Amino acid sequence: MTNINFEDIRQQFPILTRQVYNKQLVYFDNAATTQKPQCVLDKTIEAYTQYNSNIHRGVHYLSQVATMAHEQARQDIADFIGAKDKKDIIFTRGTTEAINLVAFCFGETFIDEGDEIIVSAVEHHSNLVPWQMMCERKKAILRIIPLKDDCQLDLQAFENLLNERTKLVAVAHVSNVLGMVNPIETIISMAHKAGAKVLIDGAQSVAHTRVDVSQLDADFFAFSGHKIYGPTGIGILYGKENILNAMIPYQGGGEMIQHVEYQHTTYNELPYKFEAGTPDFIGSVGLSEALKFVRSIGIENIKQHETDLLVYALNQLNQIEGMKIIGQPTSGVISFNVGKIHPYDIGVLLDKQGVAVRTGHHCAEPLINLLGLPGTVRISFAIYNTKEEIDIMIKALKRAVAMLQ
Ligand code: PLP
Repeated sequence: MTNINFEDIRQQFPILTRQVYNKQLVYFDNAATTQKPQCVLDKTIEAYTQYNSNIHRGVHYLSQVATMAHEQARQDIADFIGAKDKKDIIFTRGTTEAINLVAFCFGETFIDEGDEIIVSAVEHHSNLVPWQMMCERKKAILRIIPLKDDCQLDLQAFENLLNERTKLVAVAHVSNVLGMVNPIETIISMAHKAGAKVLIDGAQSVAHTRVDVSQLDADFFAFSGHKIYGPTGIGILYGKENILNAMIPYQGGGEMIQHVEYQHTTYNELPYKFEAGTPDFIGSVGLSEALKFVRSIGIENIKQHETDLLVYALNQLNQIEGMKIIGQPTSGVISFNVGKIHPYDIGVLLDKQGVAVRTGHHCAEPLINLLGLPGTVRISFAIYNTKEEIDIMIKALKRAVAMLQ
């Protein structure tokens, strides 16, 4: 790993210096949302104080500056994920909206009664419910890639599910419960051979590993700004140009139109066709700044640091009696339970000691039920976390377990 000054990185996140319940905050809920570096906060303030003005429509100076900043952000995001063209980048509110957009527009354009969609057993509700809704609307069939005993996706079963009626496969790059990386290269190539398109839910991957949508040959890729040190309320849908062009628009309104008559409208070109209404032109520049922050450290360095933390944490967790790690985590997230203690109780007692973790089904209720669990305690890492924080968490966890057993 290149020489990185982690203390310097940490100091760029003002919230990390605060205390909760008179204890130093240890923030291990990064899979839910990441904290924001000063440069992203500054960029947001700069946008509001220097060029806040509605974009694309104004002839005046501020509007032109804001438009340029927004469109430059689109280019930066395209570059970051290896998209060939910035018009393949659609601004959404987040991963959830990006997937809903595809489920609706792809569904209305390409799905007929009896067609099949495949998702996996580990999906977040965001990559499950929109497909259920689409299948209900279009009388299509939803198929699920099952898990093997080791919590890996069963690719043999996936192969058997694929057939000429399979129109789309939607899978998470990284599971937000298991922290396991799905073999998306293989899944994409198998799906394409069967003639199906593929959507990758990158909500838990893009901040932790290099993503190149062109190299992957993904048809769609979705992620959220707030999980990669950017603002909340902005997310990205990448789509291949020919598929996006063929799809009907998502919502109607300003921006997405070319000409409007009382009874008829022609639609704008990409990407605007899918961006009805005033876009989040402050969020876009904030997200672009967050990606600049990530690039300045290097995604490979981030991955290495987080892997070190994960290995260190697993070693320590495994020494606690009754510890059950769920699955085989390798990326950013560890889910666990201790004996018969309810995960919520552990979460509350960790919180009281300043350690922020997540408990419950993590918006993946079918997976948690499949695993026969009441929920899990989930810790998740970001670039600013340290081994010292893991030590604090382990000490707090031992205290919690002693009190609850
Ligand atoms: N997909 C996965 C794998 C996630 O972990 C999450 C959020 O935790 C989402 C989708 C939804 O992201 P958002 O709520 O930002 O739309």
